[in-house]
Amino acid sequence: MMSDLAHNIGEVRRRIEEATLRACRQADEVRLIAVSKIFPASAIREAYRLGLRDFGENYVQEFEGKASELPDLAGARFHFIGHLQSNKARRAAELFDAIQTIDSERLARRLNDAGKPLEVMIEVKLSPEESKTGTGAESLGGLVETVRACPNLTLAGLMTMPPWSDDPEFSRPYFRGLRELAARFGLARLSMGMSHDLEVAIEEGSTDVRVGTALFGPRRYP
Ligand SMILES: *Cc1c(COP(=O)(O)O)cnc(C)c1O
Repeated sequence: MMSDLAHNIGEVRRRIEEATLRACRQADEVRLIAVSKIFPASAIREAYRLGLRDFGENYVQEFEGKASELPDLAGARFHFIGHLQSNKARRAAELFDAIQTIDSERLARRLNDAGKPLEVMIEVKLSPEESKTGTGAESLGGLVETVRACPNLTLAGLMTMPPWSDDPEFSRPYFRGLRELAARFGLARLSMGMSHDLEVAIEEGSTDVRVGTALFGPRRYP
């Protein structure tokens, strides 16, 4: 019998494919990032065995423990998607291949100073009510310039997380806003869309969907 995870991966891939078809896009334009926060290293290993290669993690310390159990996953890419404090930037640069959540010039410089080539994104906050993380649209231009001037950082695109709503249509204006900002700065990648709103995100141009619950099931915080 197929495991839950194998079944869920098939289901998420089907949703991505249907959404890309509706949007007249190719399914391979959308990267599936499996968000494995809170789940153990064994869940990452199982997902890798089933063909997934991109993983998202939110906490430097938590991933530090898991990474030591996963030295052998050739070709796996780990994306940091949580809030990153500057004092953890160096450790994050060592552990991850990509950082999606640059939100200040200070953090950009710290990551650059770590000396390792990194693919990065800037996290944008598109509504005042949203939680504290992300840079406001008004300060994006300056931050884009700073990151582009960092020789170890390759700016791939923008990331956002709309305020929570169980109605996926609620996210659409945020996703559209992010796409417009990315176009203004000539940025190709858009990290947007999660388990409940990935179809809307793909219709609005997402290139990176970050999916946790729909793959691994509900998170039980300790
Ligand atoms: C946890 C998390 C996700 C995954 O959310 P699901 O609803 O479980 O798919 C995506 N992005 C970020 C930034 C997260 O923290």
